[in-house]
Amino acid sequence: MGQEGEESKPPRRLVQELRWDPILGEWVMVSNLREARPWRPRSGCPFCPGAPETGYGWDVLVLDNKFPMLVQDPPEPTRHSFYRVAPARGKCLVVVESPRHDAGDLDELGANQVYKVMKTIQSLVEKYKEEEWAIYLLYFRNKGEEIGVSLTHPHAQVYVTPFIPSKILRELENSRRYYEKNSECLFCRILRVEESDKVRVVYSSRRWLAFIPFFAHWPFEVHIYPRRHVQLFTEVSDEELEDLASVLVKVLCGLNRVFNKPMPHMMVLHQAPLKGRHEDYHLHFEIYGAYRVSGRLKYAAGMEMGGGNFTYDSTPEQAAHMLRASLQKKCIS
Ligand code: ZN
Ligand code: ZN
Ligand code: FE
Repeated sequence: MGQEGEESKPPRRLVQELRWDPILGEWVMVSNLREARPWRPRSGCPFCPGAPETGYGWDVLVLDNKFPMLVQDPPEPTRHSFYRVAPARGKCLVVVESPRHDAGDLDELGANQVYKVMKTIQSLVEKYKEEEWAIYLLYFRNKGEEIGVSLTHPHAQVYVTPFIPSKILRELENSRRYYEKNSECLFCRILRVEESDKVRVVYSSRRWLAFIPFFAHWPFEVHIYPRRHVQLFTEVSDEELEDLASVLVKVLCGLNRVFNKPMPHMMVLHQAPLKGRHEDYHLHFEIYGAYRVSGRLKYAAGMEMGGGNFTYDSTPEQAAHMLRASLQKKCIS
C-alpha cells in the first residue's frame, strides 16, 4: 500500500493449487490462470462445429476446459509454514451436448440425444476410474443467465478431482452410519418412503423415481434415484440409461414450463468415489431449480451461505404439485 499503481499490484505468477480450510475442513481450488494468461475474446461460439477446437462430425463432444481449476500437470503449490496446500491435480472438461447452438435445454434435445450424453459421461467415468490420482468425478450442468451461465450452447462440465467433494463426503458418512444402524441403504429407504407418500413424487418410471424430497433445500429441488442399488455411474445398465434419458427429458421439460420462462437450475450427479468400496452409497441426480413457487429467483444468501442452512419459502409438497401438473399437462405426449 502507499505505492504507485503498478508496483502495488501483485506479480502475475501462476497460482493453481488446492488450499485447505482448516476450520471447515475442506479444500478450496485456487487458480489465477485467467489473469495470468490474458484471454483474447474470440468472436463466435467456441462450442459450435467448425470452431478451432471442435471440428465436424460429432453428436456429443468432450473438450478440455480453457481455464481449468485442475490440470494433470499442476505447478508447484505455494510453500507456507502454517497452511496446508496440495497440487491442483485433476481434469476439468466441457461436454458439448449437441452440435446445434440453439438446441436449448436437455428436454428440447430429446431422449435419444440425452442418452448419448449419458453414454459419454459413463465413458468418462470408465476412463478416469483407471487414473491413479483420480478420486472423484463430478458431472454437473448450470443453466440460466440468472445463475451466471454466459454460453448458451448446450453444455455440461466434468471435474475429476484428487479429493472427495465435501457434500459427497457428508452423504457418504451419513449413509454409512445409517446402514450400520439399520442394515439398509438410506437412499433405498428414502425411495420407498417418497414413493409411498406420493405427494412429492414428480415422475415415476420403471427404473427411476423423480421426487422433491421432504427435506428439499432449493424451491424446485428434484432428486432422481435409480430403483436399483448402484454406486458408480458405470454400473448403470443400458436399459436404465435409456430410461434415465427419458426421465430427465420429462423432468426438465416440466421444470422449464412451470412458469412462462425456463427455470434457472443446476444439475449434478452424486455417485460414489472412483476408488474404494462404498456399498452403502446409492448414486442419484440432484437438480436445484432456483425459482420460488412465486416465480421469483431464490438466492443463497446470508442464512444459506453464512449459516449453512436453507430457508424454504413454501413446501416441497406444493412445489411438487406444481411441477407434476406442468409435466403432466405439457410434457407427456
Ligand atoms: Zn454454439
Ligand atoms: Zn440403495
Ligand atoms: Fe446427493
